[in-house]
Amino acid sequence: MARKSRRGVEAAAPQLVKPVYRVGAYVRLSAVDKKHKGDSLENQQSIINAFIEEHTGLELTETYIDNGLTGQTFDRPAFQRMLADMERGKINCCVTKDLSRLGRHAIDTGYYIEKFFPSRNIRYVAVTDNYDSADTKSGGVMVSLKNMVNEAYALDIGRKIRATKQMHIRNGGFVGRFAPYGYQKSADNCHKLVPDEYAAGIVRRMFEMATGGQGVTEILAWLNGSGVLPPKRYFHSIGQVSEKEAGKHIHWNKGVIYAILKNRVYVGDMVQGKNKNVNHVEVHLPQSEWVITENTHEGIVSREMFNLVQDLFNGRAAKSRWDNNIFKQKIFCGHCGHAMRRVHYKKSFGFKCTTQAYYSKDDCTLVSINENIVREILLKSLREQATFYTSVGPVTSAPVFTAELRDIQTELERNERYLQGLYEGLICGDFTEVEYKEMKQAYESKIASLTARRHELRETARLTALETASRSKAADRIDTISCAEDLTAEVVDALVDKILVFENKRIEVYYKFSMEGVACE
Ligand SMILES: [Zn+2]
Repeated sequence: MARKSRRGVEAAAPQLVKPVYRVGAYVRLSAVDKKHKGDSLENQQSIINAFIEEHTGLELTETYIDNGLTGQTFDRPAFQRMLADMERGKINCCVTKDLSRLGRHAIDTGYYIEKFFPSRNIRYVAVTDNYDSADTKSGGVMVSLKNMVNEAYALDIGRKIRATKQMHIRNGGFVGRFAPYGYQKSADNCHKLVPDEYAAGIVRRMFEMATGGQGVTEILAWLNGSGVLPPKRYFHSIGQVSEKEAGKHIHWNKGVIYAILKNRVYVGDMVQGKNKNVNHVEVHLPQSEWVITENTHEGIVSREMFNLVQDLFNGRAAKSRWDNNIFKQKIFCGHCGHAMRRVHYKKSFGFKCTTQAYYSKDDCTLVSINENIVREILLKSLREQATFYTSVGPVTSAPVFTAELRDIQTELERNERYLQGLYEGLICGDFTEVEYKEMKQAYESKIASLTARRHELRETARLTALETASRSKAADRIDTISCAEDLTAEVVDALVDKILVFENKRIEVYYKFSMEGVACE
């Protein structure tokens, strides 16, 4: 009898266990994770599904997917949707593959696990970390610890990627996604460029045409006329880029041709670091900050040929008698801003603004000046500058804000400590969630503004140091040339940034050692 009744109870038991947990499966894949097979979306989902099947009382209600989003923030659409579904009772259990899927920011992740979920009776499971809030044996200290590790890991990965890229750039290693047209990445070293036989032939032909006196228009006609695929279409034809990336354009355009004919990569030099990522935005850097490494790979054209093409582009004929131009790339029209063309007079040279001749009469007036006049005026002005610099004495260095920087550092550290302490206060119940959030926001904005100020000061200090250095260098130079009889191209290039010429033969000199232009008659 007794045995029978016990059996009856046992048989009835499974019917009592109805699905009580409506599970929200949360999966997240960051751009970085895509390289690790183990964290693929499918893999995360199958681990969660297996857990649900193996445990009674769980029923999958909804799957929330954030694809390509970092765990550093909780501002992820699917995550927010899941929170909303929790609030309205649609789900009462959250399962993730591991803790890092929930988030990589220790303080905030801790907040959800130890405060948000418990206060709303949400069961949280991190499968491979063996964490289950319904299981009293798991969790606690372990969770906080794991969160810290995950956070450090997220910061570390970003830093490592940037550092590795910088290292390759410094060493002249190629870091772009695609090799420039004419090259391909070496099969055994993706940071090394090797010529792509076919495309290299096209590039060489383009340079040959240019040095042979043919203009970009003629090169363009030849390329499109002979059915040569433009770079992106060519990359597509050899399976390097998708149809979408290859774009619609099946013809070459002048911009692409100019870019190729001006790219030093074709003589075997690596030119990188033209852009920089500042807060997730690509910004172009000035040419002076590019990282150029010479002779990193096999050139497609000779340096002589390349330089000749550059000279032709700059509007300077490569005839040797024209080469003694000491004002190369220094003389500009004061009215329209265009570079002035060097012209040959009967016994001397001069500079002329060609805007009116090439564009329209409305765009500029007829500006021209004799080279000897520029020479005389500049020499006179330089001597005046020399007298001035010797009279004011050595350039003094500007303050570097050491004291303020130190204060900011102390203040930053204090605020960061407060922020850390805040979380403990929340866990211990010292204040409410609302108070916690308010205070957290206050500390965070304080930290942000301190960080911004620190950056500003460091930047100012850096620029001041640079200016001081270039000024004292220039002052030295002026000193030595002030006694010189005449100007040389080397001296002009070292001291002069640009010279503006105006209609009435008035000129304005912009020196490299001074911020303002100097008007001369
Ligand atoms: Zn002009």
